[in-house]
Amino acid sequence: MTDVTHDPARTSWVASANGHSEFPIQNLPLGIFSPVGGGPRGGIAIGDAIFDISAALDAGLFTGPAREAAELAAGRTLNAFMEAGPAARQALRRAASDLLTAGSRGEAHAARILHDASSCTLHLPNRVGNFTDFFAGIHHVITAGQMTRPDNPVLPNYRYVPVAYHSRASSVRVSGEPLRRPNGQRVLPDQATPDYGPCRALDYEIELGVWVGPGNPVGEPIPISQASHHIAGFCLLNDWSARDIQRWESQPLGPFLGKSFSTFVSPWIVTTEALIPFRSPQPARPAGDPAPLPYLLDAGDQARGGLDIDFEVWIHTARMRADGTPAHRLSSVNAAVLYWTVAQMVAHHTSNGCNLIPGDLFGTGTLSGPDVRTEGCLLEMSRGGSRPIELGNGEVRRYLEDGDDIIFRAHCHRPGQVSIGFGECRGRIGPAVTM
Ligand code: CA
Repeated sequence: MTDVTHDPARTSWVASANGHSEFPIQNLPLGIFSPVGGGPRGGIAIGDAIFDISAALDAGLFTGPAREAAELAAGRTLNAFMEAGPAARQALRRAASDLLTAGSRGEAHAARILHDASSCTLHLPNRVGNFTDFFAGIHHVITAGQMTRPDNPVLPNYRYVPVAYHSRASSVRVSGEPLRRPNGQRVLPDQATPDYGPCRALDYEIELGVWVGPGNPVGEPIPISQASHHIAGFCLLNDWSARDIQRWESQPLGPFLGKSFSTFVSPWIVTTEALIPFRSPQPARPAGDPAPLPYLLDAGDQARGGLDIDFEVWIHTARMRADGTPAHRLSSVNAAVLYWTVAQMVAHHTSNGCNLIPGDLFGTGTLSGPDVRTEGCLLEMSRGGSRPIELGNGEVRRYLEDGDDIIFRAHCHRPGQVSIGFGECRGRIGPAVTM
C-alpha cells in the first residue's frame, strides 16, 4: 500500500521540509494559493514553501499521466482534479515527490517553482457545491445528549444510521478569515420569548473535514466496498456554532442559522495517499451495540477504514496576545472516537441514490473523547455554560469572546514513519454587526 513517496529515508532539497512538523516530503498536501502579484493557482505545501504546479508545468517538469494530473490541479480550484480520482492523485504525488527529492532536477528550477509560503495568500481549495455535517463522534453525542436527556442521551437510531444534516456550502471559508459574531433570536435567561441580538453562546466544533473525489450519478448508490475511491482527502473543519440560536430554532427540523453563518476549513488537502501509513482498524463497537447493516459493513473498511490522527484545540485570547502569553491548549483527541468510518458516511449518504459532486465537503461531527480535556467544543467542556473553563492566565471562558483566536491542529505519528500534519485551521471572533 505504501510506496517510495512514503519512504522515511526520503528527504527534500527544500531544507525546511526535512523535520517539518506539518509538511515533510512524505505529506505533499494540495491547495490553492496566490503568490505575491499573481492569481490563484494550485500548489503543494512543502516545508515552509509552496510548490507552484502551473510554474512546474511551464518549466516542462511533468510528463505523461503526471502532466495530465498537474494540468487538472493547476487552475483556480481543484474540483477537476478531485473528479479525476486516485490514479491522477497518485501520478501527481509521485512526480512531485520525485521533483522535490534531494538531488533531483527540480532544484535547478527552485526560483521559478517555489514560493515562500508566508508571502502567499491561501484560498478555499474547492468550489464547495454541498456541505454535509455528520454526527459520528459518539462521545460528543453522549455528553451533549446528557444535557437534555440524562437517562437517554443516545437516541435509538444512532447505532444504525450515520446521522447527518445538510449544512450551508456558501459560507464555508478558509482558515484565517475573520469571523463576525452572528446575530439571531435568543431566549435570554428568565424570559419566555426571544429577542434578536448578538449570539451569547458562540462555540467551535473540531471536526475532520472530508473532500469528496469522484461523484456518482443520481440514483446510483456507492457501495461500501467502492466508497474509498470517492474520498480525495481530508482537512480540519471548524463548525462554528451559535448555541443559543441553535437551541431555540432547531426543534423540530434541526440546525439552521445557528450553524450557517460560517464554517472554516484548513487550506491544505491531506490526500488519502498521504494518510496510507496512518490507517487503523475501525475500533470494535461496545458490547451490546448492533453490527452495522450489511450495506454499511465491509471487511476491508473495518480493517483499514479508521484514521490515526491526533487533534488539538488551542485558544489565544486578546489578553494573551497583549501580554505576550502563548496560546492555551483546550483539548486533544484522536480520530478513533469516530463511531462510523468515512467510507460508511459515503455509502450511507448515497444509499438512497443521492449524488455526490467532486469537491463536496463532509464534516465528521465533533471529535470528543470521554475524558476531561478531550471535549471537542465548549458546550461539552463548560457543560452548557455552567462550568467556567480556566485558561491558565486568570481568564475563564464558558463560550467564546470577541478577540479570541481558536486554532485547530492535527498530526499523524506512527513508529517507523515520518510524522505529517494538517497545518492550522484558525479563526478570530469579531464583534457582531450593530443592528
Ligand atoms: Ca458539527
